[in-house]
Amino acid sequence: MTLALLQVHGLVKHFPVRRGIFGRITGAVRAVDGVDLQIQAGETLGVVGESGCGKSTLGRLVLRLIEPSSGQVLFGGQDLGPLNAPALRAQRRAMQIIFQDPYASLNPRMTVGQTLAEPLQLHGLHTGRHATRVAELLHTVGLAPEHAQRYPHEFSGGQRQRIGIARALAVEPQLIVCDEAVSALDVSVQAQVVNLLQDLQQRLGIAYLFIAHDLAVVKHIAHRVAVMYLGRIVEIGDKAQVFAQPRHPYTRALLSAIPLPEPGAQRERALLGGDVPSPMHPPTGCHFHTRCAFAQPVCSQEPPTLETVDGQAVACHLWRSLPPAAVLPPPAAPSAARQRLLRLQSAFVTGTPPGI
Ligand code: SF4
Repeated sequence: MTLALLQVHGLVKHFPVRRGIFGRITGAVRAVDGVDLQIQAGETLGVVGESGCGKSTLGRLVLRLIEPSSGQVLFGGQDLGPLNAPALRAQRRAMQIIFQDPYASLNPRMTVGQTLAEPLQLHGLHTGRHATRVAELLHTVGLAPEHAQRYPHEFSGGQRQRIGIARALAVEPQLIVCDEAVSALDVSVQAQVVNLLQDLQQRLGIAYLFIAHDLAVVKHIAHRVAVMYLGRIVEIGDKAQVFAQPRHPYTRALLSAIPLPEPGAQRERALLGGDVPSPMHPPTGCHFHTRCAFAQPVCSQEPPTLETVDGQAVACHLWRSLPPAAVLPPPAAPSAARQRLLRLQSAFVTGTPPGI
């Protein structure tokens, strides 16, 4: 088996909570609480979960933009933990990030050409031919060479995100962390940017850690999916397996909210009750037990471990005994009386005779 491009082992990030004039530490926010994952070269791992589940913190930890409390990140077999600043800078050339808000991540005082040339200067790439390289990058993301002279405010949201992608591509990365990269875009523009990312992956072999809360987008782009809840991965596996046979009750609840493409078809809705508990005081045992419809006494007492069966891992004590996630058939045609009522309603709205 080939060595994974990215390996994450037991990654933990607890942010201390300070109170009082002396800044005494009174607790910790457990943003990431023991995450293990791998990404192969040219693969997309989608990370999903509700706001505050720790997925964005995980993305920053992977790039070592923030220091972990414990755990290990290996990129190309190299442990990023002991690297000093220059070594880390050199390593970062192969690991880039695309943010959710492309406007906020672009310097409004720099032209697009200057923005794209900056990483080239920083890493000593394409010396003497920056203008040519900038034109190539713009072409790669579907923009014109003359766009290099313009400023970020002159572009639409989708075009700005293309500029953000071009900036990430400038240093020829092997891995890009896409942190809610299409969440702020209109649906039609989202599809264009996702297609662009897929096209770049096929041409350049880039791996993505694709962080999103929209499962429909993740279903489109990811090869594998990891579901996070309160800082932990509760399910991870091949996309087709996770979407077709979700094992964890939380995954089921998230998936049940996605509309089915077949007209009239419905999923059994597994509604999530209550809010996500505070990551400062996560529930004991299984973090999800306060919202889980299947919870048993053991769930609040013992934390479940990730158990892998047939390549799909799940952290749930009871996943083997849960009823299968059902897809309901399309609703039956309305009765004759109901059809008559609908025609009357239609006639009332349109002002035309009902014809009954
Ligand atoms: Fe629900 Fe228990 Fe499974 Fe947690 S361990 S997801 S509470 S059934």
